[in-house]
Amino acid sequence: MKQVVLASGNSGKLREMAQLLAPMEITLLPQSAFAIGEVEESAPTFVENALLKARHAARLAALPAVADDSGLIVDALGGAPGVYSARYAGSDASDDQNLDKLLSALEGVAEDARTARFHCVVVYVSQPADPMPRIFEGTWEGKILNQRMGHGGFGYDPVFYVPTRGCSAAQLTVAAKNTLSHRGQALRKLIQGLRWVVD
Ligand code: IMP
Repeated sequence: MKQVVLASGNSGKLREMAQLLAPMEITLLPQSAFAIGEVEESAPTFVENALLKARHAARLAALPAVADDSGLIVDALGGAPGVYSARYAGSDASDDQNLDKLLSALEGVAEDARTARFHCVVVYVSQPADPMPRIFEGTWEGKILNQRMGHGGFGYDPVFYVPTRGCSAAQLTVAAKNTLSHRGQALRKLIQGLRWVVD
């Protein structure tokens, strides 16, 4: 069984990924098992931040590592909040505060111009200095609503309108969201891409 460290402190992500990897000869270990703390996500792109996290975990755990980074890109805001999605309203901001800031920033912006997308990057590095990291991406197109709709999901889900479903991301079941979402897409590609690692 091959061991891989997941560069995240999020137990929900670990559960979701471990479930997807279950049929494969891979054991996913949380970085907390090695007392690895968070690294500063200081880069301007999702892919660079995911690589920072993966390299950090691979170095300290002396194992291959998987990391992800994601966020919301709003066209009318020049791509914001982007890599700052989790801390849009400040370093300790709650989801609610981030949502309020987003809705204020878009006040008066017409429906047609409220286009946005979630983006997720998942990377795999075989070692900290891996010159050929595997990079898997997913993008989910939608529009930002004028107000919250639904109570499911997390983060910006209540204001992310999914045109193909006629509802917000917070109104989708977990299974429906996984089928469509940026993270679901990237994780399915990771599973395909990791087959070579265990073959
Ligand atoms: P991270 O990839 O865990 O760093 O997430 C970055 C931030 O992007 C989250 O804190 C959310 O604010 C936002 N985000 C990422 N994916 C989603 C999603 O599926 N729904 C809602 N918000 C999301």
